[in-house]
Amino acid sequence: MTAEKRSFQAEVSKLLHIVANALYSEREVFLRELISNAADACDKLRFLALSDPALSADDSAFKIKISVDAEAKTLTISDNGVGMTEDELHGNLGTIASSGTSAFVENLSGDSKKDVGLIGQFGVGFYSAFMVSEKVEVLTRKAGTETGYHWVSDGLGEYTVEEAEKATRGTVITLHLKDDASEFLERSRIQTVVRTYSDHIPFPIVFLETKTDPETKDEAETEDTLNQASALWTRSKSEISEDDYKEFYKHAGHAFDDPWMTLHWKAEGRIEYHSLLFVPSQRPFDLFNPERRHHVKLYVKRVFITDECEGLIPSWLRFLKGVVDCEDLPLNISREMLQNNPLVGSISQAVTKRVLSELSKKAEKDKEGYETFWGTFGAVLKEGLYGGETEHRETLLKLARFRSSTQDGLVSLADYIGRMKEGQTTIFYIAGENEATVKASPQLEGFIKKGVEVLYLVDPIDEFWVQSAYDGFDGKPFKSVTRGGADLSAIAGETTDADADKTDEPKDEGAEDAISALIASIKLSLGDKVKDVRTTDRLSDSPVCLVADETDLDMNIERMLRAHNQVTEASPRILELNPDHVLVKNLGKLIKDGQGADFMEDAAYLLLDQARILEGEPPSDTKAFTRRFSEVMVKALAA
Ligand code: ADP
Ligand code: MG
Repeated sequence: MTAEKRSFQAEVSKLLHIVANALYSEREVFLRELISNAADACDKLRFLALSDPALSADDSAFKIKISVDAEAKTLTISDNGVGMTEDELHGNLGTIASSGTSAFVENLSGDSKKDVGLIGQFGVGFYSAFMVSEKVEVLTRKAGTETGYHWVSDGLGEYTVEEAEKATRGTVITLHLKDDASEFLERSRIQTVVRTYSDHIPFPIVFLETKTDPETKDEAETEDTLNQASALWTRSKSEISEDDYKEFYKHAGHAFDDPWMTLHWKAEGRIEYHSLLFVPSQRPFDLFNPERRHHVKLYVKRVFITDECEGLIPSWLRFLKGVVDCEDLPLNISREMLQNNPLVGSISQAVTKRVLSELSKKAEKDKEGYETFWGTFGAVLKEGLYGGETEHRETLLKLARFRSSTQDGLVSLADYIGRMKEGQTTIFYIAGENEATVKASPQLEGFIKKGVEVLYLVDPIDEFWVQSAYDGFDGKPFKSVTRGGADLSAIAGETTDADADKTDEPKDEGAEDAISALIASIKLSLGDKVKDVRTTDRLSDSPVCLVADETDLDMNIERMLRAHNQVTEASPRILELNPDHVLVKNLGKLIKDGQGADFMEDAAYLLLDQARILEGEPPSDTKAFTRRFSEVMVKALAA
């Protein structure tokens, strides 16, 4: 059979071009990537062999071997892992298969200096071999098959694959080193790199050397183990350096950043497990993928089982990376059987509790650091407030941080309650698309004037949990300021001198009659376009606003649902008037004096449309709005 020549996928070519020409200072990481792949391959086979022991029966001592040939200038990394079929070779080493490399390609800017920096940020996996190699060969044989395949490429756009002899399963990767990479022919250099990046790999990484006995002149192959070769999470904390943890995080989590928090503990007693978990410092790019999968690997007694154990980590902690290694599950458990396993459920509960309690500690000890975390993952954590389980709700509400109308930084609910005004019994919030929009809402005016704090809920998930948080927090229910029931009258405000004068004024009965007349007239004109018309004290600068009735959907959530075609028609709202606004006052007077009858219908519609515009919505009938508006201007100019 002749070798089949194929072109790399266009994105791979682009990536290889950058990698091959990169003046990247830490190119030694190629070795970490190849060892990491070899370890993954061993993990995969060890798992498959649980149900089909024949797959590894001939050689169950998993191992990664490194050797050099100084004359040929080659460095070889081989493993006795799962290997690859011909199709897998094409899929894995000809296209962008891994998440890291696809993130790399997506972030390319075309500016070569910046792009080289991305190698460090995202890692380019297997392709990083081309940083140090002018040619790479891969000889591989899938466990359980008889045929091997040989893949070769100089990284310049094409590669070939052909059938080849391979006596044993696994993969051998041979790098033909570039002239400027001959440092990687030295054992001491390799040893340093392995110690630095790969010490935590739970399989022996051995260096092969052929030594000649000085007396007998016999040649013998020696194997020196370069790493500790024990699972990092089973070692005691005191033996593990921060760098060890970091490297493990990058390998196990396929991560590019440094961990923000590292949690390492061993649970003993009713359930036994080791847990080594990390909170990343950056958002993984698949954080908001619809599957909402977590990335914690499940091991049983040091054997990798799956990284897709659904019940292990709740989806609202899916940013966690790392390992849970359980002592009490049977090794031969199938992935399907894990789904509803009560033991997995118990571990999940325990892990969740522990993570939340560590986050709470961090929130207390390191306010600023915690707020950075909240900015990165708060929106995900809040998903835990919504849905069936209410067990962690209180802790999560304690952990939650918000922006608010009276404070500069982030506030907690406990802070908020501590600042509540006399007579205030609810936690006020306003929900919307972003902070700028909610800040501009007319419904906030009265609250700001009275100095009553309002929380800004601007994550899409907020609407959902807040609607279902019936118990509120610390006995205080949540209340939207865009709802009819959010009442300011009972709350003692920070009254200014001007306000104080006002309250002493005798009640102006005439003004009250005028407003009542105005309300009656507006109701008549607008009919079922509004649910009600009334005065409010939630406004100070704007003449009007719209609010939702207690029993209706809050307005922002209705807007969201309409955007997703979940509801088609906006339900009628309550139109509220600011009785202190000069426009409202004058209109009232006009009606009371029996004037302006020809004008009142237009005025009513213009008030409603103003309120709609303040909500960020178009007037209900733009053509009619423009006509009315022009007419009013014409009259004003004539007067
Ligand atoms: P990642 O490891 O993040 O998936 P890589 O670019 O490092 O991305 O590797 C791509 C894929 O190639 C791996 O997912 C794996 O399927 C395959 N692969 C690489 N090296 C080996 C190996 N030594 N044995 C078996 N498969 C391998
Ligand atoms: Mg890899």
